[in-house]
Amino acid sequence: LTKYDYIICGTGCAGLSLVVHLIQSGQFSRKKILLVDQSKKETNDRTWCFWEQEAGLFESILTKKWDKVWFYGNNTGTLLDLAPYSYKMIRGIDFYEYALLQVSGQANIELRYGTIESIHSDEAATYIVLNGAQIHTRYIFNSILWEQPAARKHEFYLLQHFKGWVVETPEPFFNEAEATLMDFRVSQQHGTTFVYVMPVSATRALVEYTLFSEKLLTTEDYAIALKDYMDNWLQLKEYTIAEEEFGVIPMTNISFPRRKGNIIYIGTAGGQTKASSGYTFRYIQAYAKAITESLLDKGHPFVSNSWWKKRFDLYDSTLLHVLANRQMGGKEIFAKMFDKNKASTVLQFLDNQSGFGQELQIMNSVPKKIFIPAALKELLRRIL
Ligand SMILES: Cc1cc2nc3c(=O)[nH]c(=O)nc-3n(C[C@H](O)[C@H](O)[C@H](O)COP(=O)(O)OP(=O)(O)OC[C@H]3O[C@@H](n4cnc5c(N)ncnc54)[C@H](O)[C@@H]3O)c2cc1C
Repeated sequence: LTKYDYIICGTGCAGLSLVVHLIQSGQFSRKKILLVDQSKKETNDRTWCFWEQEAGLFESILTKKWDKVWFYGNNTGTLLDLAPYSYKMIRGIDFYEYALLQVSGQANIELRYGTIESIHSDEAATYIVLNGAQIHTRYIFNSILWEQPAARKHEFYLLQHFKGWVVETPEPFFNEAEATLMDFRVSQQHGTTFVYVMPVSATRALVEYTLFSEKLLTTEDYAIALKDYMDNWLQLKEYTIAEEEFGVIPMTNISFPRRKGNIIYIGTAGGQTKASSGYTFRYIQAYAKAITESLLDKGHPFVSNSWWKKRFDLYDSTLLHVLANRQMGGKEIFAKMFDKNKASTVLQFLDNQSGFGQELQIMNSVPKKIFIPAALKELLRRIL
């Protein structure tokens, strides 16, 4: 009955990252793989920024990378040396085209377009329902979020929402060797708010106004804030807007499913969005790698987190607790972290890759009288 070995639901970042990892390993050419998405990935619907030490699988399609970035917690700002990390940028459309080109070269991989109605897995069968028909498989990798899991009492659900403009200037204006990771000089009246500036050339940059808060702003509010940033902080008068992007990412400690029978949840739908920062791209890559390795080494795709790794969930919940209860703003928290630690230590921590010694150092840089009670409350909530 099983027709496919793997069905990958959704050809967004997580689905395509997984298939690229499988292809690049060179070990899956005998597996029958089906990819399904409801829409063709033909537009530049998002831009991914992330940090990485080594050359990743998508190195050849990076738009740009920076080794030094500015952090502004105050007016003077600090130029952070990220070594051994680089901050990298990939345009969505370049990623989709690159991955889909690799898929088209594989005789064992099929790509179909259509809306998946549902997915099922029990002892008897694992299948998706597409256009009313069941398609059977051994494993499903699902990145489709049909509905958000409900937040239970004391769980936090903040939104990271952002509006970005790709601006072009008639004269060289930007220093393309230095990006701005976070500029907190903007008003904090709606919650944690910062702007990042990613110059891809001397005359072109992505300027993104970003907030961590409960509610979205009006379309006009984002535009006013961006214009204000261009006028007052960048002091850039003459520019045109070449592209725009808007996005909302969940920042939450509610539990997303990881596995149900032979269904493995990947991407944002599988809880791969870091609760305290919204960063997802790196986690998607790490998980795609781990699944590929598990399939090769163990013959199954079930990757489990060690209990010790789960401490990062506690750190995320603690930060959300402090932010959601407005005990301290993200501006002060990030300023203290970057002020008192090497940038690479902070990035390693935000990547869930730090050692416990480094974590103690990070904890030491934020006010204990706020963070210790918050951490204890979150710990108790887990235990009780
Ligand atoms: C504008 C924007 C910018 C972002 N920037 C960053 C960033 O800089 N760094 C970072 O780390 N993260 C970023 N993120 C967060 C995260 O990396 C992205 O959201 C990422 O695309 C998540 O990947 P995914 O595969 O989980 O979801 P998606 O990429 O959204 O893929 C899900 C796919 O499922 C398909 N689908 C949905 N329903 C169905 C259905 N019923 N049937 C068939 N197909 C269906 C969709 O068409 C889509 O292609 C950003 C998010 C957004 C929205």
